[in-house]
Amino acid sequence: MTSRDGFQWTPETGLAQGVPSIGVILPPTNILSSSALYDVIVIGGGYSGLTATRDLTVAGLRVLLIEARDRIGGRSWSSNIDDYPFEMGGTWVHWGQPHVWREISRYNMRTELEESFDFSHGVNHFQLRTTQGASTMSHEEEVRLDTLLASGLEKFVNVDGDMGRKVIPFAHDAFHVPEARLYDEMSAQDRINIIALSLTPNERASLESFILLCSCGTLATTSFFELLHWWALCGYSYRGCMDALISYKFKGGQSTFAIKFFKEALATGRLSYAFNSPISSISDQGDKVTLTTRGGRQYSGARLVSTIPLNVLNSVSFDPPLGTQRAAATNIGHVNQCVKVHAEISSKDMRSWTGISYPFNKLMYAIGDGTTPAGNTHIVCFGGFNNHIHPEEDINQTKQAVESMAPGNMDIKRLVFHNWSKDEFAKGAWFFSPPQLLSTSLDAMRARQGNIVFANSDWAVGWRSFIDGAIEEGTRAAMTVKEELQPAPALRSSL
Ligand code: FAD
Repeated sequence: MTSRDGFQWTPETGLAQGVPSIGVILPPTNILSSSALYDVIVIGGGYSGLTATRDLTVAGLRVLLIEARDRIGGRSWSSNIDDYPFEMGGTWVHWGQPHVWREISRYNMRTELEESFDFSHGVNHFQLRTTQGASTMSHEEEVRLDTLLASGLEKFVNVDGDMGRKVIPFAHDAFHVPEARLYDEMSAQDRINIIALSLTPNERASLESFILLCSCGTLATTSFFELLHWWALCGYSYRGCMDALISYKFKGGQSTFAIKFFKEALATGRLSYAFNSPISSISDQGDKVTLTTRGGRQYSGARLVSTIPLNVLNSVSFDPPLGTQRAAATNIGHVNQCVKVHAEISSKDMRSWTGISYPFNKLMYAIGDGTTPAGNTHIVCFGGFNNHIHPEEDINQTKQAVESMAPGNMDIKRLVFHNWSKDEFAKGAWFFSPPQLLSTSLDAMRARQGNIVFANSDWAVGWRSFIDGAIEEGTRAAMTVKEELQPAPALRSSL
């Protein structure tokens, strides 16, 4: 089935909106009883909502899942073009991510992962293009501690003489040491200013592009604390970052994973759902919560789990209104405006290539990510708000940005992308915090309000911003609701 989301360009077809995905749900609506007061309504069919929906239906509760899009997965979904999965959003997972790995085990999918990198042949090196000119290095050099990518990053995070370990000893309780809050006052730019004299020009360029690849904001709008938090999650090493952030993906694409959650919930016989149903308002009347879709349909439940992301929470009207601190946080929002563009190119030799072009290019980081059924190389490219584009608005500019990653080697046969910045149900990619947002508002973002529990990767405590964080949050929301609607006093009091 073809989703409305995403874009595809080929020389033959030109630019077309919508790409096929196994995440599209048909029929789009399945309401078991239209007059029902549901036990729980879950808004949003991303991983937070899918996890909550699955856990609640399996626990015996009657759930209505409401989703604005025509598909599951939210910010993580894969398009299937000629049977090849292009990841439109969230992609890479790792066994060091506890919640995601629990689910991979549950669905017996551990052998369905593959490595993005294949450093075996052809243009088998890392290429850095900066204002200093172009240089190349082997992939072994790229990850070694003394080379420029790792060494710049280590100078950046080493605030305590112990590579950040003293400041964030518990990555899932990142404010455990009060001093960590001070680093949320600082931007990435502030920290670079402090260490600037110790950086070579190429070290600085690679460090800046790595930071911008993580936040996809600008250096001034990126919280230094959140970078330290990512560093701690990744085991305090550059190699750990590469392993956890960009190495292992599903052979069949993210939608093969997401569909397992949906199917398990559906199989309980307790799931009603409505896709293509954007919510416009939510009213908590004390004894129940009623929501209204843009089309005017109303549904009520004893509890509501909202997984609406931070950057679009203020597009829904709440009665009573959102608490002051949560409202302030959603008005500030996160800063990630990632531009992710897949290119299918004819050169087989580019499969083993990786590169950075910074700061002049509209895309800054790219890797060889696979080989398509046509035998072409799949390159995935990333850009951010520092040099932002809307890829569909000027396809020639987008092609030029891809070509400029490795001049002379990018004979483009196809482009595939999702414009997350213009997506009205996301308004951005993965969460990345500006300075001060987390230290002032994380608790408020996580707090429930009356009968409404708010769950999203954007305010997870562990792998916040990741699929793992979404599953963490869906699990938390389901537990909260389950304990209230299905108390098990004998068991609980014995724990
Ligand atoms: P979402 O997926 O955003 O789900 C929220 C749902 O609510 C959506 O389906 C949305 O349509 C729906 N919704 C919103 N508003 C309304 C409304 N008014 N009415 C009804 N429904 C509504 N994570 C990783 O772990 N690894 C990666 O490699 C990775 N790369 C990424 C690359 C990109 C380009 C992007 C965009 C994200 C990436 N992420 C990655 C992050 C990951 O995708 C997200 O953190 C995660 O998918 C968020 O899940 P969620 O359920 O919390 O939120």
